[in-house]
Amino acid sequence: MRFATVEYQGKTFVGAVDKAGEKVTPVSAGDINDLFRGNRGEPKGQAIALASVKLKAPVPLPLRNIMCVGKNYHEHAKEFSASGFDSSSTGAADAIPTAPIIFTKVPQSVIGPDEPIRYPTGVSEQLDYEAELAVIVGRGGRGISKADALKHVWGYTIINDVTARDIQGRHKQWFLGKSMDTFAPMGPWAVTADEVDLATAGIRCWVNGELRQDARIADLIFDIPTLIETISAGITLLPGDIIATGTPAGVGIGFKPPKFLNRGDVVAMEVDGIGRLSNQVR
Ligand code: MG
Repeated sequence: MRFATVEYQGKTFVGAVDKAGEKVTPVSAGDINDLFRGNRGEPKGQAIALASVKLKAPVPLPLRNIMCVGKNYHEHAKEFSASGFDSSSTGAADAIPTAPIIFTKVPQSVIGPDEPIRYPTGVSEQLDYEAELAVIVGRGGRGISKADALKHVWGYTIINDVTARDIQGRHKQWFLGKSMDTFAPMGPWAVTADEVDLATAGIRCWVNGELRQDARIADLIFDIPTLIETISAGITLLPGDIIATGTPAGVGIGFKPPKFLNRGDVVAMEVDGIGRLSNQVR
């Protein structure tokens, strides 16, 4: 099932999106968090043409946090380490992390599909994109084992972990460079876990139609059960928590010279089983 948070005729509600991606049917839920807590989202009311609604970020505020994973694909870890922007590594010898690197973005950085990424004029001149599969936690818990971890996954969405590389590098900790306003496009909707085949699903990203990232979710260094076990070891996960799992190779700083984002650029990304998220830099 695919569930979107939509705005239509002045109201915001949760709807089930049909397979063709043409219609959305309102479901019985106060907001999408009801679904993460176990509500099945029974249809109520007439289907509406998707083209006539505004898609919002599927998981609304308040979100308590967006947990993110750094350097979680081998080829990306190498390109990042070699780029000179990676304050977490001193070179090729320690490019691949030995334990997951977990950081967070502030929830207020979230925007929805087709909403503009605001160019941070005067703050950064090295804007970059990162296509990522994001896990949506269903049943919460602490001390979740790898073996049980996928039972705690409600589903998935896509996040663009927009990054100001100059700020990320200068300040060592990644928070500032990752959390600016509009730096977390999310969508186009949330899908239940059965929609994504983690063994085969591909993840891709284009900038102005040019394919930049093209990998498989199965290439993650630390897989989703490992991430859940690691985070929940000491932090109770809650329904609706988001874990962005990391980005594959092909980000802007992976190119020589780097291909940073400019105003007017359109960043589009897809994960098989979810859909397509697109945002323009303005
Ligand atoms: Mg990232």
